[in-house]
Amino acid sequence: MWEVLKQIAKTGIATETPPVAMEVEASHIHDEILKILGRALTIREIDAGSCNGCELELNALGNLYYNLEGLGIKFVASPRHADMLLITGPISRNMSTALSMTYEATPSPKLVVAVGDCAINGGIFGESYATIGGASKVLNVDYEIPGCPPEPIVILQGILTAVRYKLENRTN
Ligand code: SF4
Repeated sequence: MWEVLKQIAKTGIATETPPVAMEVEASHIHDEILKILGRALTIREIDAGSCNGCELELNALGNLYYNLEGLGIKFVASPRHADMLLITGPISRNMSTALSMTYEATPSPKLVVAVGDCAINGGIFGESYATIGGASKVLNVDYEIPGCPPEPIVILQGILTAVRYKLENRTN
């Protein structure tokens, strides 16, 4: 017991303090999304062949720093409940049919966002016997978030920009 207490005293608080700028940016993005959509945003994520690096960043987006649920952004299991599809990975040939079926199952108007270099153009995997390259080879992509992988705050900013972009294109 003493050993544990001594170790705790020696180590101190190892967790980082939340980056304030990030919290401010996240809450600003939330206000923008609500202003544009007037309601929560539901997202279906599709890993179409990722190395999982992009998924780790998407997971990190669930960190309390970003307060996603509080911001009205929810990840959902069914494409039928989704406003937006987030696609990661170079599109593997095995996943291309599932990807287009998911797209068809998502109600219109739907927003499609390619997350990471692989979903944009195949990234480091390019095109091969196993992958067909970017998601735009299979469906219409509204917006692209570059990076390998993009940081959570960049993904959040991209989601907001995609919502804005879609709205502008719908009303013009
Ligand atoms: S963009 Fe980078 S991190 Fe994301 S799936 Fe491709 S290789 Fe992995």
